[in-house]
Amino acid sequence: MSQLDGKTAVVTGAASGIGKEIAFVLAKAGAAVAIADLNLDGANAVANEIKAGGGKAIGIAMNVTDEDAVNAGIDQVAAEFGSVDILISNAGIQIVNPIENYAYSDWKKMLAIHLDGAFLTTKAALKHMYKDDRGGIVIYMGSAHSHEASPLKSAYVTAKHGLLGLSRTLAKEGAKHNVRSHVICPGFVRTPLVDKQIPEQAKELGITEDEVISKVMLGNTVDGVFTTVEDVAQTVLFLTTFPSAALTGQSFLVSHGWYMQ
Ligand code: NAD
Repeated sequence: MSQLDGKTAVVTGAASGIGKEIAFVLAKAGAAVAIADLNLDGANAVANEIKAGGGKAIGIAMNVTDEDAVNAGIDQVAAEFGSVDILISNAGIQIVNPIENYAYSDWKKMLAIHLDGAFLTTKAALKHMYKDDRGGIVIYMGSAHSHEASPLKSAYVTAKHGLLGLSRTLAKEGAKHNVRSHVICPGFVRTPLVDKQIPEQAKELGITEDEVISKVMLGNTVDGVFTTVEDVAQTVLFLTTFPSAALTGQSFLVSHGWYMQ
């Protein structure tokens, strides 16, 4: 029997990058996985790949900032697979700009996707996890920027710090219903989200793209190495299969030592 047989996971932003690898790893461990993303074609492609490999999966169109879409999507998953046991709140974007040029509309968009999205998906999932105190686990995709700041990333750093508060509150409220909560905090991972920033940061900081990688992205790591999607997905697997609430309300840095807590 696989570790997550009989469990159902919802992974937001799983049509790409980190979320996509998490979906594959959870499915391989036996979970039925809902790939919830703005990009339905991408979500369906991931679901089809999982199904082709013998796993259980479904693609769900979901804008995590849309309360009705979130509630409908999570309820659809519970109806399809019988429950929601694992929520990985992972959908995210990046917009870089110094504060004096940061558009208010961009600030609101960043906070909406990272924080409103985390809140709305949590609230929708808890309805199922709290039923008969069956319990579950919610993991938020934070960042080393949940603990550290970088220039140009005011909204991102603010939002990622905010997730620590939500997660710790849920750890306290959820305990009596057998719900645990964590934040995973990756360093830089080569995904479309990061690749887009390299030329943008080079232009804004007046340095080369190689310097953005070696100085800005990897300069504070212990070994100059990017974190990988596999590193993050294996951390998710460890936490989802951990047997007790000895681990709850924590934040886990997966960053080649960029930030040490
Ligand atoms: P990515 O761009 O590869 O994937 C993000 C996914 O989120 C995309 O499929 C996109 O369609 C989806 N998405 C965006 N807005 C959405 C919305 N409103 N509703 C639903 N889905 C939406 O990015 P990634 O690098 O895999 O990032 C995933 C998460 O990891 C983000 O929260 C990001 O902040 C975090 N993170 C990334 C890094 C990194 O270096 N890549 C480091 C630390 C944390």
